[in-house]
Amino acid sequence: MMRALPMPVRATKRGAARTPIGGDFDVLICGASFAGLAVARELRATGARVLVVDRYEIGERQTSACAAPTEWLRNLGLEASIMQTFGSLLVRTPRAHARWPLGWTFSTFDYRLLCELLWEQRGGATEFETAKVHARRGGAVETDRGELRAPLIVDALGWRRVLGSRRVQPPEARLSRGLEVHPGGSGEDLELWIDKRVIRAGYGWSFPARGELRVGVGSFDPRDHVKEPTVALAGELGLPPDGYQGNWIPHQLGPATEHGVFFAGDSAGHCLPLTAEGIRTALYFGIACGRELRAVLEGRRSRERALARYHAFSGSHRWKYEAMLQAQHAVPRLRPRALAAVTRAFERGGVSHRAFGHYLRIAPPQFALPAPPPASAAPRANAVAA
Ligand SMILES: Cc1cc2nc3c(=O)[nH]c(=O)nc-3n(C[C@H](O)[C@H](O)[C@H](O)COP(=O)(O)OP(=O)(O)OC[C@H]3O[C@@H](n4cnc5c(N)ncnc54)[C@H](O)[C@@H]3O)c2cc1C
Repeated sequence: MMRALPMPVRATKRGAARTPIGGDFDVLICGASFAGLAVARELRATGARVLVVDRYEIGERQTSACAAPTEWLRNLGLEASIMQTFGSLLVRTPRAHARWPLGWTFSTFDYRLLCELLWEQRGGATEFETAKVHARRGGAVETDRGELRAPLIVDALGWRRVLGSRRVQPPEARLSRGLEVHPGGSGEDLELWIDKRVIRAGYGWSFPARGELRVGVGSFDPRDHVKEPTVALAGELGLPPDGYQGNWIPHQLGPATEHGVFFAGDSAGHCLPLTAEGIRTALYFGIACGRELRAVLEGRRSRERALARYHAFSGSHRWKYEAMLQAQHAVPRLRPRALAAVTRAFERGGVSHRAFGHYLRIAPPQFALPAPPPASAAPRANAVAA
């Protein structure tokens, strides 16, 4: 059920409203999308001075089809943002069409509302400013509105990994690319096209979201263009190519910490290869990162220990990411007959439920439930082990 929430009234500050900002904070979270907002939410009631910055207002710029496992949304208290829910995937290949039962459900959601709801959960002391982040210099972050300092810095800025030491630059970087349109329309199914006539290496999709269809194409090869295929797929479905949005999508796990900075979501390559599902994992690793920061703020852990633990936690998922990347390489090489056989095999509940069960457990929804209270939690506001 939709809940009517006041939409953010502040537009991204421009011109004279872009006054200088600066100063010292306990935590600086760069990026206010899935990963950044998940980190901020974990810091509620710490009493710490937390600043979140993003070049746009919270919820202003949607860059994805916004579909995620329903249980994740429910466990985070975000049900009000749900638009439509699906228990299966309709998969179209050149030689076979099949319905894959998932054993759990996916939901499309309203991006702006979901961000608003996550932001509401942050607690009182966390502030937000619009600012474009340029780079990090030691313990300071340079933005277009001034220099911000904090002993705990999070890069949740997406695929560019702005605060990292090396530039991530397509087409050389390990990136996929995706583009979609959002024409008005309706549908009952989450649909996927695994078909070289749609895209050489990748897939097309149509995700209904009550009143609109999110139709797009993703390519695993960053050199392949996706605009023409997206327009063509929309055309085949009889839809106008309204409301373009697209982005680069990392498909290789990177280091989750570097030079004392925490990276969460696409900045750490947390998007899953093959499916390009990156919302659930941005929330998952954002929560993990936030829990480490919270332990530092509460004096239960040193900053160095938190960095090491978060780095190891992210790295412990490496083999799963590598398995998904292997599958990403293998699927485009399947001949039509083999692809049809695999597609049909997934029609059977046993096969499909097992495979999608493993897939969901890469970042399980139970992780979003409140963490049990630490044995000796003695909150110390503003006490950060630098
Ligand atoms: C077309 C398309 C469709 C997709 N569909 C899905 C889907 O249905 N389900 C799914 O799970 N995944 C999907 N993905 C992948 C998913 O969008 C990403 O993995 C996910 O958004 C990552 O979240 P994030 O918070 O790490 O980064 P982002 O969502 O990219 O957020 C980064 C934030 O940082 C801000 N920012 C960036 N640079 C700067 C800067 N220099 N200064 C200040 N702010 C900055 C941005 O404004 C943004 O708010 C899709 C991707 C694409 C391209």
